[in-house]
Parts: sequence; C-alpha cells; structure tokens
Amino acid sequence: MGSYVFELIEQEARRQENNIELIASENFVSAQVQRAIGCCLTNKYAEGYPTDRKTGKKGRYYGGCEIVDKLEQYCCDKWQEVFNTDYHVNVQPHSGSSANLAAYMSVLKPGDTILAMDLSNGGHLTHGSAVNFSGKLFRMTFYDVTPEGFIDYDDIERKAKTEKPQLILAGASAYSRIIDFERIAAIAKANGAYFMVDMAHIAGLIAAGEHPTPFGYADIITTTTHKTLRGPRGGLIFCKPELAKKIDGGVFPGTQGGPLEHAIAGKAVTAEEACEPAFREYCKQVRKNTKAMCDRFIENGFEIVTGGTDNHLFLVDLTRTHPNLSGKDVQDALDKEGITLNKNCVPGEKRSPAETSGVRIGCAAMTTRGWKEADAVACADRIAGIINRMTKA
Ligand SMILES: *Cc1c(COP(=O)(O)O)cnc(C)c1O
Repeated sequence: MGSYVFELIEQEARRQENNIELIASENFVSAQVQRAIGCCLTNKYAEGYPTDRKTGKKGRYYGGCEIVDKLEQYCCDKWQEVFNTDYHVNVQPHSGSSANLAAYMSVLKPGDTILAMDLSNGGHLTHGSAVNFSGKLFRMTFYDVTPEGFIDYDDIERKAKTEKPQLILAGASAYSRIIDFERIAAIAKANGAYFMVDMAHIAGLIAAGEHPTPFGYADIITTTTHKTLRGPRGGLIFCKPELAKKIDGGVFPGTQGGPLEHAIAGKAVTAEEACEPAFREYCKQVRKNTKAMCDRFIENGFEIVTGGTDNHLFLVDLTRTHPNLSGKDVQDALDKEGITLNKNCVPGEKRSPAETSGVRIGCAAMTTRGWKEADAVACADRIAGIINRMTKA
C-alpha cells in the first residue's frame, strides 16, 4: 500500500542528494525537524490559541489540547528568543502567503492602499501581484528600484505622500542588498501608515545578526520558516504587543481554521536550532559563499544586478553580456547538468516573466550541505562555462 508514493519519495531524496541546489528560497532541514513534522501531532485539532498564561482563559475550541497548548506556547517563547524580542508571535500561519494574508486582513479593509515592491523588481506575489489575492483585494501601488536595481528610498518617500497608503511593505524575494528598515519605518511613521516587513528570505540572516533587524522598527513582521531559517514549510507573524489581538484574530478565525501542530513542532525545533551558535556560523558562511560565487561571476565577465550581494543571493543579468539567451534558456540548460536554479526578471526587464533576462542564485542550501568558498567559486566557473558554450552554439 502506498508503494508508488514511497518510491517517488525515494526518487526525490536521490534527486536532492545528487543535484546542486541553488534556488535561493530552498534549504535542507535537519533530521530532527523532519521527525517533528512527520509525527502524530498531525492528528490533532486545536482551533484557537493556548490557554492565556496571565488570565488563565481557555483559548481552544476542542478538548484534549493540554499537550499541544504546551507545545505551541514553547514554540512562541523560542521564537521570541531567536529574535531577542518582546514582539508578540503567532506560529500558526500555514505558509508565508497565509501569514501575509492574515497580516493584511488584521489591520486593513479591502480597498485600502498598500505601497510595496513590485514582483518584477524583486517583490513577492503576495505583495500586490494582479493575479494574487493581494492585488485583487487591495489598491496596490509600487515603489521603484534605481536602474542599477537598488531600492529607491526617495521614491518610497514620494509615493507615501502622494498615494497615502495605509500600509508600507518592505521585504523581497529577489533582492541582494541590505534593506534600510529604519529609513522606511520613519517614512511610514511620518505618513501615518503601518510598517510591515516580510523578511521571508533573510529571516535566518537577521536571527544570526547578519542583516540589520526590523524588530523595533516594524509594526508587523511576517516570515516563512523554510528559507534561510532552515525549518519546515510554514509561516510566522510577529507584531508589536498592541496589535496582538488583531493579528491573532486575523490568523484564526480570520483566514485559517485548525493549526498544523506537527508543523508547529517542526517550527519549535527550528527555533531551538536557530538559537545555537552553530546557526550563526552557518549564516556567516552563507554570506561568505554567496559573495565568493558572485565575485567569481563578475571575474568571468558577467553582470550582477546592483553589482554585488550583501545576503544569501544574487541576480545574474544576461541582458548585455548574453543578449541571445533568456533566463529560461539558462535554467533549462543547467537542469540537464543537475544544477537547479530559477529564472528571474531583472530591472527594466524586456522579456516576459516566463522567459526573463536573468537568473537568481542562492547559497543557503549548499552551505547546509557543507560548501565553503572554494566550492562556490568552482560552481561559478562551471556555470559560466555552460552559459558561454550555449552562446557559441
Ligand atoms: C517565499 C516568500 C513568501 C511566501 O511563502 P510561501 O510559503 O511560498 O507562501 C512570502 N514573501 C516573500 C518575500 C517570500 O520570499
């Protein structure tokens, strides 16, 4: 029974072992995290929240929750420890997208205005794409990036005044530079807007002190747990204590039913791991590897969006160096060589999102596999060779 399914799981395990994984949003969880998410907690219904520690008020709608109550409370406490914060935390969002939906619905009404970064400039689908709930439910306006691909903070300031957003959103899926949360927070404050940070990609780096923190600046912070945080697929929401009720209501009953307590167990183990000194070392190495790989591409004559990287990823822009190749051509060619990455739009993109003129490369996953700088450099040379041979053919 189920032998076909388990055969496919076995095949995927081999694919993951044998391929070079450069998708910037992926990582490899520990055996402990896998054990936690594959356990009996998947059987438990636990709509609501753990019993309030101060008031003793019962928060669940089902019986038999005394153990998951302890688990979820522990998970919340651990995540506050990871980010050294007294922000309230909700560990129930099923994904990063669910976290964003719940966060928006907590403090906004449909039709309200959000100022965010466009998908084509590095933002996420849930940051206002027309095909996503965010673009359908809210009036979206977007700040620009400079021709080099840096966030245009002056444009945020201009648009905050002219568009009068209720919420300004920072955070991205394909942005290789430090984001100045302090500056955007000041703009939001001056214009009476909520400031929300979606730190999905860089959350691990923030936890490790390898990127400036949004805590203390943002009203609401959402994240995924499965990217640089190296946990199971899932989401988290942090908020200033005064927004706790709104955020919790926005998750349940606002946008979700029962929480995934097995996923919450996995998130708790992830938080424990992120508190270890080894996680700091890991994040440091991620940045070193990414910089080494990015620098090698530049030495090999490639153009990088913004000219470099501060975090776990960078974007190769093929527009001028390889005008006949699309991001999709490169992605497909590398797939055949067992190297996995994804095509990505570049600033001023002329091709469609299905083709694109660039690729995104991230080193979080391969650093988990033990990569050091020399491995990253060798891989850059190999990819450069493959791309240059394609150009000649
Ligand atoms: C990955 C990502 C998300 C969404 O995560 P899912 O778990 O795939 O829904 C949200 N925001 C940003 C910035 C992301 O990079």
